[in-house]
Amino acid sequence: MNKLLKKSRGLKSRLIDINKFNQGILKSNIVEKFSKIIPKMIASVIKAKRDYKKEIKTPIDEIKLASKEFWQEIIEKATALGVGIIGFASVDENLIFEKDQSTDIKFLYENAIILGMEMRYESIEKAPEPEAGLESLRIYAELGVATNKLADFIRSKDYKAIACHPLGGPILYPAMAVKANLGVMGRQGLLITKKYGPRQRLSMIAINASPLPENLLEDFKISEFCEKCGKCIELCPVNAIFDKPLIKENGILTRIDGSKCFEYFYEYTGCSLCIKVCPFHKIGYDKVISKL
Ligand code: SF4
Ligand code: SF4
Repeated sequence: MNKLLKKSRGLKSRLIDINKFNQGILKSNIVEKFSKIIPKMIASVIKAKRDYKKEIKTPIDEIKLASKEFWQEIIEKATALGVGIIGFASVDENLIFEKDQSTDIKFLYENAIILGMEMRYESIEKAPEPEAGLESLRIYAELGVATNKLADFIRSKDYKAIACHPLGGPILYPAMAVKANLGVMGRQGLLITKKYGPRQRLSMIAINASPLPENLLEDFKISEFCEKCGKCIELCPVNAIFDKPLIKENGILTRIDGSKCFEYFYEYTGCSLCIKVCPFHKIGYDKVISKL
C-alpha cells in the first residue's frame, strides 16, 4: 500500500438521493430550473469519478514541495472560479467515510484544500419552499465544477490531486473545514463561518503538496453564542437536532438524527430551515457577536 494514501477507518455516510424529492410540490418554473441544474451536477460527479480512476492508476508515494507562490496561485484560481472560502489541513483518516457514495473514492492524498461556496441569501430565506433546496443543488453543481477545474489546474502544475465532490464525497467536510480553521460547527451540524454563517456548501481536493500554508488560529466565539441560542433546535419541524450532541464510538460527534431530517428534507425538497433561522445567516457574524 502506498504510504502517502489515506483510507477510511470506518465512518458511515449518507448521500442525498435526488430521486426521493417530493415532485408533487414542485411548481412548473421550479421543475424547469431543476432540469437545468441536475444534468450539470451529474456531469461534475461523473468527471470527478473518472478523474479519480485515472489518478489512482498511477499514485505516487512522494510529497512534493510547495512554495508560498504555489498556494497563492491556488487561492487566486479558486477565487476566479467562484470559490468564496478556502482553507488547508492534513487529511484525518478518522473523518474518511467507509463508502463514498457519490464518486467511489477510496483513498486520499496526505493534505487537503477545503473549499466553500455561498448559497444565495434570498433563496435560503424561502426555506422550506423548494427554492431553498434548489439553491443547495445549484451550489452542488457550481462547486462541483469549480472543484474539478481547480484539481485540473493543480495537475497542470505537476502535483497529484483528487477532487472530492460537494454532493457527498469521501470525507466529513465540515470537520475538515474546522481543522482548517475556517469556522466552527453549529448545533445543527453545519459549518458556521464569519463570511457566510451556515450558508455555504463544501468540497475538498486531496493533494500531495507540502508544507501547507499556515492557518490563522482564531477564537470565533461561535460556540459561545450557539450555547445561548438553540433556535435551530427549537424550530426544526421534526425535532431532528439533538440538544446535546451524541458521541459515537469513533469519537465523532453527531448533532442530527439523520432519519428524521432526511424524511422531512425529501418531503420539502431540501428544507434548509436550520440555515434560515440561524442568526449567523440572518444578520451576519459581526452583528451576532456584538450581542455577546
Ligand atoms: S441557530 Fe443558533 S444554535 Fe443553531 S447553529 Fe445557529 S447560532 Fe447556533
Ligand atoms: S434540514 Fe430541516 S429537518 Fe433537517 S435538521 Fe434542518 S431544520 Fe431539521
